[in-house]
Amino acid sequence: MFVDTHTHLFLEQFSDDIDTVMLRAIERDIQRFYLPNIDISTFDDMMGLVRKYPDNVMPLIGLHPCSVKENYEHELAFVDEKARSGEFFGIGEIGIDLYWDKSFLSAQQESFARQIELAKELALPIIIHCREAFDEIFEVVDGLNDDALFGIFHCFTGDLAQANRIIDYGGFKIGLGGVLTFKNSGLDKTIADVPLEHLVLETDAPYLAPVPYRGKRNESSYLIEVASKLAKIKGVTLERVAEITTDNANEVFKFEATKPQ
Ligand SMILES: [Zn+2]
Repeated sequence: MFVDTHTHLFLEQFSDDIDTVMLRAIERDIQRFYLPNIDISTFDDMMGLVRKYPDNVMPLIGLHPCSVKENYEHELAFVDEKARSGEFFGIGEIGIDLYWDKSFLSAQQESFARQIELAKELALPIIIHCREAFDEIFEVVDGLNDDALFGIFHCFTGDLAQANRIIDYGGFKIGLGGVLTFKNSGLDKTIADVPLEHLVLETDAPYLAPVPYRGKRNESSYLIEVASKLAKIKGVTLERVAEITTDNANEVFKFEATKPQ
């Protein structure tokens, strides 16, 4: 079985056909889905999907860096309250995004750091979103990393030096999605040198669909395209990729499979 460690199936892009989207993924043996929240406005839809598929869908709580605006204190208070309810499997997604808007950089840095502190206090993993902000992300994580900090650098698109820096933190996995299948991304060459034990799979649906769906709406069933590409890069079977990336995801999210009687 596979785990989609990062998918936004609760967004409006799926409101017309979520049940067939779920079915297609489960038929392709993607059995578990971690849903990072964006902000207060997406929370109710996320929880609606959790109620519908409680065995498959796992909610995370966090404030996305692109939603850090003037009202971020209000948003952070919401994250804090929800995280303490014990219903959530991690703090995400959080991080820094300088692609769209740089005007809230200091608020993004502060929100990121405070949510890291919250995750450490509650012993939850963090899911890091990093877009055009590796230096800024590393600066915050360098200052807060210790044995209590762990999680996933989601949608990794960096180089080998950046991958090794993430691995050297000790508690982090690298999340691979559709970009791995893009021609000329160069990510395949980087990942050839990163051992499988550090990798998890994700789609980031509805964004960043893998080849041959590039440019279309992404969905969790397309995780297999990413897994197949990884199997090819590593020269192993698809089953081996499933086994090790699922183990890695279970380790991060502390998921204990129910043992057969
Ligand atoms: Zn995301």
